[in-house]
Amino acid sequence: MHEAMSEDAEHRSLVQSDRRYIWHPYSAMGADLPVFPVRSAHGVRLQLADGRELIDGMSSWWCAIHGYNHPVLNAAVEKQLADMSHVMFGGLTHRPAVELAERLVSLTPDPLQSVFFADSGSVAVEVAMKMAMQYWASKGMRHKQRFLTIRHGYHGDTLGAMSVCDPVNGMHTLFSDILPQQYFVDSPDCAFGEPCPESSIQPMADLLSECGQQIAAVILEPIVQGAGGMQFYSAGYLREVRSLCDRYGVLLIADEIATGFGRTGKLFACEHAGIAPDILCVGKALTGGYLTLAATLTTNEVSRVISSGDPGLFMHGPTFMANPLACATALASIRLLLDSPWQERVGRIEGGMRAGLESCRALAPVRDVRVLGAIGVVELKAPLDLGQVQPMFVERGVWVRPFGNLVYLMPPFVIGDADLQTLMDAVTAVVKGLHEVSGRLVPEGIGL
Ligand SMILES: *Cc1c(COP(=O)(O)O)cnc(C)c1O
Repeated sequence: MHEAMSEDAEHRSLVQSDRRYIWHPYSAMGADLPVFPVRSAHGVRLQLADGRELIDGMSSWWCAIHGYNHPVLNAAVEKQLADMSHVMFGGLTHRPAVELAERLVSLTPDPLQSVFFADSGSVAVEVAMKMAMQYWASKGMRHKQRFLTIRHGYHGDTLGAMSVCDPVNGMHTLFSDILPQQYFVDSPDCAFGEPCPESSIQPMADLLSECGQQIAAVILEPIVQGAGGMQFYSAGYLREVRSLCDRYGVLLIADEIATGFGRTGKLFACEHAGIAPDILCVGKALTGGYLTLAATLTTNEVSRVISSGDPGLFMHGPTFMANPLACATALASIRLLLDSPWQERVGRIEGGMRAGLESCRALAPVRDVRVLGAIGVVELKAPLDLGQVQPMFVERGVWVRPFGNLVYLMPPFVIGDADLQTLMDAVTAVVKGLHEVSGRLVPEGIGL
């Protein structure tokens, strides 16, 4: 009894201190939103400090594809730790970085041949954008310094990356004094699995024909737009973008930070369209969710031009570049993925979610249901009240973190059928109980 009480008190003080001292992603200090302390995580389960277990439907934002606390990844970390956790990358190199670079070059589309290791996805995007700018500057074309992208994109939270995020979601007006002004076209209106009619690509074709001289690169998330709206678009659109970039002398940057490593059913989403970008960003699932690491890959052409121009160096070099612990873990994670029946697993999750989420379509608050690979999305007609809704998922023993009007599942690839069913039942039950009060969806019994 005494034990239980002190544990409860400790739990409360943890939450209190968290509220007092720490920012969370997209949060306010002093806000009264629920936050749940986690004690440990194994497989597809998060164990909360109060002993409750939650089935993970989020893979910690696309990352934990193998589940948590995996013995193979744990062993890789421990082995590398015994050698060195970090050394600077200026003037030094090491086997984990070299082997990982070789691996990434061999797995990604053929033209991509060199690797820049960054410490987060946003930085990988900054690096991609700087590389595109330096590429044209090195060719004596300093006027090509702007970027073209599609609305509802998400590329990270740093200033350069933010400038190519959706202007509304990305709060461009708030930062307009400092954000570079980029070019935007509407996101594709042709869905995944459908052809791309000429009318869908026309806006991008028009903009490139008019402003291509100012544009260094088109940047987009191939096939799946993630945090900007969870939309899946036609592979035909991506093929058209590739050929327009070639026609107007503009580089193509594919941001596969969310889609990379199997999530959409292909190892990389570009494979759905059979195209290769000039610059590719990967991150998130790269280390299986263990450590923060991302990478920017380029073609020989891009790296040769940057390296032979003025100043002849690529001007970027993070302190924790190619962190050995992260590189060794990434290598182990990639091996684990490739040695697993991941296509079959992702296909099974896809099939399960197509069947299991379909019944949501008829529910009053639901606008659309869509599934691609191991991503299942229930789009609602209005934003939901996260503070009210989050605890309902926890009460049902699942970890699902909606944003805006999107409730979505992207579980670890290793999830079993029963656990997937529990996740889908929870989504269905919670969504079913929502009703609209002054433009927001709240649980039944609230605001009546
Ligand atoms: C998450 C994400 C990023 C940013 O990565 P961070 O590691 O959060 O900086 C960039 N692009 C896409 C597509 C992402 O999903």
